[in-house]
Amino acid sequence: MGGSFAGDFPDVYIWQQDYDDLSFLKGLGMSNQENDLLSRRNAIKFGVASLSSVGMVAGAQAHKLGDSIQTPFVVAQTLIPIAGSDAEFPVRRVYCIGRNYAAHAREMGSDPTREPPFFFQKPADAIQFVAPNKLVDHPYPSLTKNYHYEVELVAALNKGGKNIPVEKALEHVFGYALGLDMTRRDLQRFMGDQKKPWEIGKSFDYSAPIGPIFRVSQIGHFTKGAISLSVNGIVKQKANLDQMIWSVAEQIAKLSEANELFPGDIIYSGTPENVGPVIRGDVIRCTIDNLPDLSIKIV
Ligand code: MN
Repeated sequence: MGGSFAGDFPDVYIWQQDYDDLSFLKGLGMSNQENDLLSRRNAIKFGVASLSSVGMVAGAQAHKLGDSIQTPFVVAQTLIPIAGSDAEFPVRRVYCIGRNYAAHAREMGSDPTREPPFFFQKPADAIQFVAPNKLVDHPYPSLTKNYHYEVELVAALNKGGKNIPVEKALEHVFGYALGLDMTRRDLQRFMGDQKKPWEIGKSFDYSAPIGPIFRVSQIGHFTKGAISLSVNGIVKQKANLDQMIWSVAEQIAKLSEANELFPGDIIYSGTPENVGPVIRGDVIRCTIDNLPDLSIKIV
């Protein structure tokens, strides 16, 4: 998890929870007080910091852990900055819908009129935070010779539930971000052709670049608006969010039939047609109306 890919921002916020007992820090040569003084960057390096700026739910869980459970090591919590505040959004699960624009479904070889929605997941630590107005390095992954972009709107939930009705679904959305569902297309297809899970094509390190989350109270809901992606200044994907087969509300409703949703879950809402490959040196720029652009350079 390198800050080296992220300009002035760490690309993945690795934040240890707010343990009351920080005695394990002694192994790192640090006192509790020294820990309190850690900068964010150092905190990421050591994986230890206060979680006070994060929501009550995560904080409460941390206190519970610290009070009762000793762990032999710490596991990082992925966080995404919330625009216009010092708060950060703790990520629980990263869900993605497949083939949610008709023309993209056709280019992937399926019939958009007959398919119910399907979902897959990426691990939460596949998130790569991309700060607005920065060109952030993004590592070309291993094992692929056909690395594809997919620009997508991302919905971030702060309320969970099972069998959420469509009419109530948007009440579960905390905010929205601009994201990329990066894909090792050759591996996805190879595994699919063999009727094996295509996880290796979708779920890998850095495969989920994302911008800051904007609260619904700041920007409202996204039911329409331009979405686009260019490579080296040439427009590749260009569509409108109202062309989604399944709206964000419908995605939440459908997904909550399969899994109970929880605060911290985020949903990549699908990509329009004209996905395609990039190589090292390419610059991808993504736009959605009313969100800041997201730009990465493949390295
Ligand atoms: Mn996708």
